Amino acid sequence: MESIQIKTASKQYPVVIGKNAIHELSDFISNECSHVSKILIITDEKVAELHLQTVKSALIKTGKPVLHHVVPEGEHAKTFDVFYECQSYALSQRLNRKSMIIALGGGAVGDLAGFVAATFMRGIPFIQIPTTLLAHDSAVGGKVAINHPLGKNMVGAFHQPEAVFYDLEFLHTLPLQELRSGFAEVIKHSLIADEDFYRWLRLNIVDLTNVTDEQFLIMITKGISIKASIVEKDEKETGIRAYLNFGHTLGHAIEGSMGYGNFTHGESILIGMVYALKLSQKKQDLDFNLNEFIQWVSSLGYQTTIPQQLEKEVLLHLMKTDKKSVHGGATFVLLKQLGSPVLMDMEDSLLLEEMTDLM
Ligand code: NAD
Ligand code: ZN
Repeated sequence: MESIQIKTASKQYPVVIGKNAIHELSDFISNECSHVSKILIITDEKVAELHLQTVKSALIKTGKPVLHHVVPEGEHAKTFDVFYECQSYALSQRLNRKSMIIALGGGAVGDLAGFVAATFMRGIPFIQIPTTLLAHDSAVGGKVAINHPLGKNMVGAFHQPEAVFYDLEFLHTLPLQELRSGFAEVIKHSLIADEDFYRWLRLNIVDLTNVTDEQFLIMITKGISIKASIVEKDEKETGIRAYLNFGHTLGHAIEGSMGYGNFTHGESILIGMVYALKLSQKKQDLDFNLNEFIQWVSSLGYQTTIPQQLEKEVLLHLMKTDKKSVHGGATFVLLKQLGSPVLMDMEDSLLLEEMTDLM
């Protein structure tokens, strides 16, 4: 079992990671959140079927009433309608300012349930129980949101959890494609912050269907520590937090144009990372063996080229209107070296040229 303390300007909280981490949950609530009078678990249909009972059983020891509300899977959870239903359920069950919400699921449930907690009666505490590998990224940092028809994550808040309990047991039921989606963010964290970690991943993770608990523990602990150290320095995303966007400028454009849910987030940003690595070699003299990287990730089942049906001009437009874009141009996170990111505005001609190369 590993425990990382996350320190932000507004709060300090633990992330507990390990097999059976869930068994530490009730003691934490009894000791640290003794004032809480009622607990509402928000989870999605699939996770409810697989893991809700385990979590409910783990909460019995708290002696507190535990309710649950099940929402649709994936991005279907992050809608105004579902948000409204959650608020209605919480009100009808007489939750109040002394209540607590538990987000049980992947990043989508975490974002929705966190936003419900951020807004219910002007904000109540919540705990994250991530069940996907991707959620090592989403469960830390305090960003919570739902989608608007005009843009993903456009309505949200910063709301830090009381704690994160990451039980590795839950990852065993995760489909391969979801594992691949989350592992792309692990790769991202290694590339932007820790060359040795990148080497370790490349040498040790050679088959995503066969990752041991010990390997999960290492990659999640490392990934979360990297994200935490960046978020701690820049909680509200004014500066270096932008580095977490490595691979995401093109990645978001691909994910959006393929239709959210058709191509996973991680699969999209993996292509975005290949692109950003190529740009880094051109503009920052990055010394990196890209062929070796492409061989490795291809063997893990990732696509490394831009899907044929997408058009460069459309992708370019999307990259320039990305909400992270600074001056109306396309701002990229590039690498000077592994572990040393920089921000750089890129000219259209080069962006188009390098996309042609990746199609
Ligand atoms: P998700 O929550 O949609 O989960 C993916 C799928 O896996 C769903 O169908 C879900 O039902 C299923 N699933 C979850 N846990 C499972 C398990 N243990 N076994 C079997 N199936 C399981 O998606 P995700 O990939 O975890 O997260 C993506 C979301 O996270 C996006 O909405 C994205 O915007 C958000 N996100 C937020 C942040 C942030 O900082 N807040 C960062 C990155 C991503
Ligand atoms: Zn991401």
